[in-house]
Amino acid sequence: MHLEELGEFGFIEIIARLVGKPSAPVVVGIGDDAAVLKLAADEHLLVTTDAFVEGVHFHRQWLAPGQIGARAACAALSDIAAMGGRPIAVLVSVGLPPSSETMAAEQLMAGLVEILGKYGAALAGGDTAASPAGIFLDVVIIGTAREPWLRSGAQPGDILMVTGSFGEAVAALSLLQTGQISAASGLPKALRTRFINPIPRLAVVEALGPRDAVTAAIDISDGLVQDAGHLARRSGVALTLEVARVPIAPLCAQTAEQLDEDPVQWALTSGEEYELLLAVSPHLAEQVAKLVAQKAGTTLTPIGYVSEGEGVTVLDESGEPLEVTAGGWNHFSQERQ
Ligand code: ADP
Ligand code: MG
Repeated sequence: MHLEELGEFGFIEIIARLVGKPSAPVVVGIGDDAAVLKLAADEHLLVTTDAFVEGVHFHRQWLAPGQIGARAACAALSDIAAMGGRPIAVLVSVGLPPSSETMAAEQLMAGLVEILGKYGAALAGGDTAASPAGIFLDVVIIGTAREPWLRSGAQPGDILMVTGSFGEAVAALSLLQTGQISAASGLPKALRTRFINPIPRLAVVEALGPRDAVTAAIDISDGLVQDAGHLARRSGVALTLEVARVPIAPLCAQTAEQLDEDPVQWALTSGEEYELLLAVSPHLAEQVAKLVAQKAGTTLTPIGYVSEGEGVTVLDESGEPLEVTAGGWNHFSQERQ
């Protein structure tokens, strides 16, 4: 069957069945004119939205429908992690060509719902529209935080730390672009996971709890250096990154060599990594790294420091400024610059 035969309301019924009964803090989910959530009094509400447009954020030949939904969910969840929050609910506007197979549309939603469920967020509503030109998703995510982590709080003297390792996202994309590998499922495991199910670092938030070690945070969606620039600007400080300390993923190094690229430049500019860059008070850095290693299933590595001034300086192995040759992702120029 195709969506044009099933119709909008039949599709919404399928989604409602996928999601099941709402549970706290969602009081009313799919079915009314708006979702109703009940919140604790001492929490801040975090709300953000992420667009996923076919041909820009994903290509149908690389990702199966369920993988498109999963990837969109991971990216949205990462924004809540970057705020030091806990996700609670999602609303998604979905645009689908009327000629879509019902099964594929259902798989797309199931992929989204599965990842959300894994991280404790309910699909509480959305909208459905025909989109003859291609698939789009607009994911609104709602979270809560006692004390949100902002981009603007970094202080001179803070240590810069990153979760995980870098460069797998661009390695995956590059392999797909060469055409040597025709779909994300055919990528080596680490690249496949990073490309389809990047891990939103919510476990890092849980591991650190409500302590005030983190002074500023951002998730890496445009590239480490570019996103560091956003944090520097919002905090009114200078950031120095030491290349020798940036954790480069093994498959980034291996793929870069294979394709005759520079793994260091890749790690510094790879977008959609969904790792976190944190500014941490210096006396708490060691303790925080230990907590993350013990409880969050990843590492937290010091890669530089905050000082007075502005901008981002990257230092090479011998302490000399390193030129970053690709700027990262910028939408309206439609490419890595
Ligand atoms: P309205 O016309 O009042 O906006 P709709 O008929 O569009 O209502 O939606 C009916 C219910 O289904 C609402 O609760 C809405 O949040 C939910 N809904 C619609 N589309 C989706 C979707 N793609 N995913 C999740 N929930 C959806
Ligand atoms: Mg509607």
